[in-house]
Amino acid sequence: MVKAAYIHIPFCQHICHYCDFNKVLMDRQPVGEYLASLKKEFAITLAETPVSPLRSIFVGGGTPTALNEHQLEYLVAAVREHLPFNSETEYTFEANPGDLSKEKLKVLKAAGVNRLSFGVQSFSDELLRSIGRSHRAADVYKAISDAQDTGFENISIDIIYSLPGQTMNDFKETLDAALSLNLVHYSGYSLIIEPKTVFYNLMNRGKLVLPAEETEAEMYEILMEEMDRHGLKQYEISNFAIPGYESRHNLTYWNNEEYFGFGAGAHSYVNGCRNSNYGPLKKYMEPLYKGGLPVMDTHKVTLTEMMEEEMFLGLRKVKGVSFRHFNEKFGKDADELFKNEIDRLKSAGLLVEEDGYISLTRKGRLLGNEVFQSFLS
Ligand code: SF4
Repeated sequence: MVKAAYIHIPFCQHICHYCDFNKVLMDRQPVGEYLASLKKEFAITLAETPVSPLRSIFVGGGTPTALNEHQLEYLVAAVREHLPFNSETEYTFEANPGDLSKEKLKVLKAAGVNRLSFGVQSFSDELLRSIGRSHRAADVYKAISDAQDTGFENISIDIIYSLPGQTMNDFKETLDAALSLNLVHYSGYSLIIEPKTVFYNLMNRGKLVLPAEETEAEMYEILMEEMDRHGLKQYEISNFAIPGYESRHNLTYWNNEEYFGFGAGAHSYVNGCRNSNYGPLKKYMEPLYKGGLPVMDTHKVTLTEMMEEEMFLGLRKVKGVSFRHFNEKFGKDADELFKNEIDRLKSAGLLVEEDGYISLTRKGRLLGNEVFQSFLS
């Protein structure tokens, strides 16, 4: 049964230079109509696939906190009306430090939201400016302190390393500042230059200076060491938490479990099918006006694909993939099915087998994508 729901809010006040998410500048967008469409999508989907209280709800974007208080109130009321959840549910909102007022925080708290994930990226104002973020370090401190004053304790922040022009010293300062906040969860990603972004165009014109690959690897090593030193256990390639505060929502993806995906461009995995919604707002909203779902593409996942995905996604977790669980789920043995891949990656020092689990080595974490690809036919 589906246990998780992702809700996409595609509006942003500014567009960051590295971002390839499905998002639009908020100005003059039909925000009210979009939220009404989301509500319809909740209703139709849940009528087709009823569920018991969800384990997690994640509202991401875009920037959900770009919505004003009234829009937020409408959204959380629609969630409450259609998506079953209770006090055990992990209910997360992604937030931009610059636009989360105390009033908005109160709306979220009253609605049962119990986790906030801030897109901080860096504590250097200069770097924040150069990557096109609208907030500054002072906004982060204020937003986190306001969130804590409102009663939020399950707070996560994202940071990005290997930014153009970022030195090792810049990165260490950001890491120190992030850790001094004593939060329960951190995510650290290396910058990826995606097509159709400002950075991609600059790179093609030879105008983007990125840290060397060795520097990037060193930053990742330092990230892992510092998190560990502060009692934050790495549980996924890019995620660290005080034990008990791992993101249940993201674990749904890495455990290869099913989830709803609502909103423009959202993906879902329901009843063995991976579906994707139309990305452009108009295309997303049109079918919903007529009482239909905005699904653009649907794919029934074959057993072979499911097993490959179990490895591809599961190996992101530091714990890795349990052979016993794999067998219980599919009635087959992963170590036999993927013997060649596992042997090769073990000899390359990228995978290790221990206590019935196959997992990435420290070196493997640095070369994760290479390992994951090996399991896809
Ligand atoms: S705020 Fe987030 S979603 Fe919006 S442009 Fe920046 S990175 Fe992309």
